[in-house]
Amino acid sequence: MLKIFLALTASCIIAAQSQAAAQTQSPWLNTNVIGAMKAAKYSPALKDDFYANVNAEWLTAATLKPGYPRTGAFMELQDEIDARLKGLMTDTGIPGHDAELVRRLYSMWLDWDSRNAEGLADLDKQASRITGIKTLAELSAYFMEEETLYSGEMLADFGIGRDNKDSESYNLELSATGLSLGDSAEYTRRTANGGRVKKMHDGIVRYMLRRLGYDETFAGEMLERSYRFEEKIAASEMTLAELYDPSAVDKMYNPLTMDELREKSPAFPFADILVAHNAVSDLINLQEPGWLKALNGLYTESNLEDMKAYLLCNLVKGYITLTDEAAYREYQRLSRERLGITASKPDDELAVDFVHDRLPVCVSRIYVGRYVPEEAKNEVSDIIRRTVKYYRSMLEAEDWLSEPTRRKAVEKLDAMRLNSAYPEKWVDYSEYEIADGMSLFDAVKALRKYNVQKYFYDRLNQKVDHDLWIQDVIVVNAYYQPSENSINIIAGIMGGDFYSPEMSYEEKLGGIGMVIGHEVSHAFDTSGAQFGKTGNVESWWTDEDKASFKARADRLIKYLDTFRVDDSGEHYSGSLVQTETIADMAGVKAMLGIAEGRKDFDYDKFFRSYAKIWKVVQTRELNDARIRTDVHALPYIRVNAIVQQYADFYRTYGISDGDGMYLAPENRVAVW
Ligand SMILES: [Zn+2]
Repeated sequence: MLKIFLALTASCIIAAQSQAAAQTQSPWLNTNVIGAMKAAKYSPALKDDFYANVNAEWLTAATLKPGYPRTGAFMELQDEIDARLKGLMTDTGIPGHDAELVRRLYSMWLDWDSRNAEGLADLDKQASRITGIKTLAELSAYFMEEETLYSGEMLADFGIGRDNKDSESYNLELSATGLSLGDSAEYTRRTANGGRVKKMHDGIVRYMLRRLGYDETFAGEMLERSYRFEEKIAASEMTLAELYDPSAVDKMYNPLTMDELREKSPAFPFADILVAHNAVSDLINLQEPGWLKALNGLYTESNLEDMKAYLLCNLVKGYITLTDEAAYREYQRLSRERLGITASKPDDELAVDFVHDRLPVCVSRIYVGRYVPEEAKNEVSDIIRRTVKYYRSMLEAEDWLSEPTRRKAVEKLDAMRLNSAYPEKWVDYSEYEIADGMSLFDAVKALRKYNVQKYFYDRLNQKVDHDLWIQDVIVVNAYYQPSENSINIIAGIMGGDFYSPEMSYEEKLGGIGMVIGHEVSHAFDTSGAQFGKTGNVESWWTDEDKASFKARADRLIKYLDTFRVDDSGEHYSGSLVQTETIADMAGVKAMLGIAEGRKDFDYDKFFRSYAKIWKVVQTRELNDARIRTDVHALPYIRVNAIVQQYADFYRTYGISDGDGMYLAPENRVAVW
C-alpha cells in the first residue's frame, strides 16, 4: 500500500531549463528539474549541498530517453530489467505455458496490421450499448449484464479487499469510479497539472468519438454533460489529500449488510447489481458513504443523459490504447504534450510494458528463474533480519514512548512477515489460453475474465492465503503492507545502485538497506499505528503517545514547509510528504544503528550510496505534477533534509554552522 515511490508507467524529454534558478529562499536548488543545475551554473560544495555535490556529474549529464519524462536510479534499473524482459519475451527457446503466453501477447501487441484490420469494431459495439439506453431502468439493466463487467463501464465499483477488523478474511469493497481529473479537489480549484490532465482527457474523447463517426458538436456535448455529472459527484468524494491522510483508514471503514446497502442506495440499484454479478458477501465495506448518498441523489431520469455521457467518455478513453495504430499514435501525441516530452518510447519497449502489465505473474516467474539467484535472496533476507533486530533496540530506546505502546510495537515487529525477492506460491495461469484467431482486444477481454475469476470470485468470502503475496516482483519498488503486517522487498529492486553481490557492505546498507529500513518504519508511523500485529485495524497507541508522535511530526512538517521547489512562490506541502519523510529518516537511523556495531565502517561510502539511489531528473511538467500529488518528497530533499538530522553525517564531513547542510541540533526534526 505504501510505496516508496510512485510507479510511473508513462513515458519523456526535456522541458524545463532556466526557471529553477528563480528560487531564492531554499537552502538548496531543486536539482531534480532537468537542466536546472547547468542553467544556474550550480556547483555547490559537499558541505553546502550534499545531494547535488555527490550526484553532480550525473545530474549535469543526464538526458531523458525518448518517451520518458524522468530518469534516475529507479528508472535505470527498470530499463535493465526491461531489456532482459524483451529478451525473454522473444526467446522461443524458453519452454512452458507462461513463456508461450508472454511471447504470444508480445507479438500480438506489435502486430499493427491485424490491429488495424480489427479497427474500432468492438468499441463501436460497446459504445452503442450505452448510446442506445433510453430510460433509467435500461441503464440499471446495462449495469447488470455480464458483458458490462468485462468490457463496459460502471457508475460504482466493487472488488476484493481485506476487512479492517478481520484481516484473515477477504471482503467486498464498494467504491466510487474514477474521475477524469483524478483528484476531486481539481473540480473546485484547478491546478496547472489538473489543466494538463483535462486537456489530455478531452483530446482523447474528442478524437475517439470522431473516429466512431460522431461530429465535433456531439463530442463537445458529451464532454460538457460528463463534466456536469462529475462536478456533482466529485463534491461528495474525498480529495487526494484526504485519502492520504491517516484518518482515512477509519473514515473509509463502513461495514454494512446487503439489506443496509439496499436502504442506503434506494435509487441506484447497487445491491441488485451485486446479486446479478454473484458478488454477495457477509463482509461488505462501503468506502465513501457520502459518495453513495450523492450518487443516489443524482440517479434520476433527468440526469440520465449526463450519466450516459460520463460512461461513454470513460469507455472511449479506455479503448484508445487497445485499438488501431492511428488511435495509439494520437494517444502518444497527447501524452507527450501532457508530460512535456518530445518523443515517445519505441514500440518494442511499449510491447514489453504491455505484457508485463497484463501478465505480471508469468513474466515475473520466468524472470526470477533466470536472474535472481538464491544467494541474493538470502543476503537480502539477512539485511532484513538485521534491520528488524535494530528496530527492536531503537523502539526500546525511544524515551517518548510509554511502556504499553513500546511493548505492543515490539510485538508487532516480532510478528512482521518478512518477504524477500519472490513468493514461493504464484497465481495459476495454466488455464488461460490465447486461442488462434483472437484479436488483441479479445485476448485482453478473456484475460480480464480469467483475472476476475482468480482474484475476485475465488477469493470472495474465503480466508486469506498469506503465501500469495505480491505477484509482480519485477518492478523497482518495495512495500509495507499494513493489512498483512509484512514488508516486501521484491526482486525488482535487487539490482542497480541498490544492490549487487559485489558491492561493499556500506554500499548495500546505503542502497537496499535504506529501502528496507524505510519500509519497516511504516509499521510504526501514523498510518501503521492504526494496524495491529495481525493486520487488523486496532488502536494500540496510548493517546499520550499519539500526541507525542504528532507533536514531533508537526515540527517536521513545519521544517519541510520552508522549502520552495517551483517558481510559483508557493511553499512545499510538508503535510503531504510527512509520512514518507519520517520513513526515510527512520531508514537512515536504522542503517546507522547497524553500522555502529561494525569496526571500520566507512560512513562516507554509506552516505554517498544513499545519495545515489535518489539521483533523479525530470521534466518541469512532471516536477509540478509530483509536488502536488506525490506523497514522497522530491529526491534532493529526500537526501539532504534526511542526512542533516544525524550526528554521524556532521562528523563524517566536518560540517559546521555556516555550511548549507548545517542544521543546529535544536532544529533537527527526526521523529525517531
Ligand atoms: Zn514509504
